[in-house]
Amino acid sequence: MVDPLLALRDASGVTLPFERYEGAGRCLLGRPAWGNGSSRRGYGLPIFEQCGAACAYCGYDMSATYEAWLNLSVDHVIPAGDARRLGYPVEWFEDVANLVTSCRACNEFLNGYRVTDVPPATVEEFFDLRDIHFARKRAWVLARHREERGWYDARPRK
Ligand SMILES: [Zn+2]
Repeated sequence: MVDPLLALRDASGVTLPFERYEGAGRCLLGRPAWGNGSSRRGYGLPIFEQCGAACAYCGYDMSATYEAWLNLSVDHVIPAGDARRLGYPVEWFEDVANLVTSCRACNEFLNGYRVTDVPPATVEEFFDLRDIHFARKRAWVLARHREERGWYDARPRK
């Protein structure tokens, strides 16, 4: 059971990309077709359609140029590996509604992010949990970007 107060506190002030999704992100939309097996040209297409071409975490717009487009990837908000290990229904965590557009940098920063919550009882609770973790992941990623940028700005130059 997800504590609604916790959900409110964690997700407050964060615009959830799911609000733009069909059914305002509160409906299962189906598992994306694998396509050619690449996120950019295959299974990512239904996610970019719902979520847009900007990174859901840092806002980087990947639609403008070829080089930017190369950074397009897809992130499972509730990570698939954790969800599988914890016994979440695969039709929940592999659904488009658990997937967001992410740039490669944010995706890499989020590699160490773990979810340990017991499986939610209902899909509604799953969506609540997704929203909480989206807000936490966004905060995590923005902190990593600040740290990385700090190093970048202070780097020795010729
Ligand atoms: Zn990003």
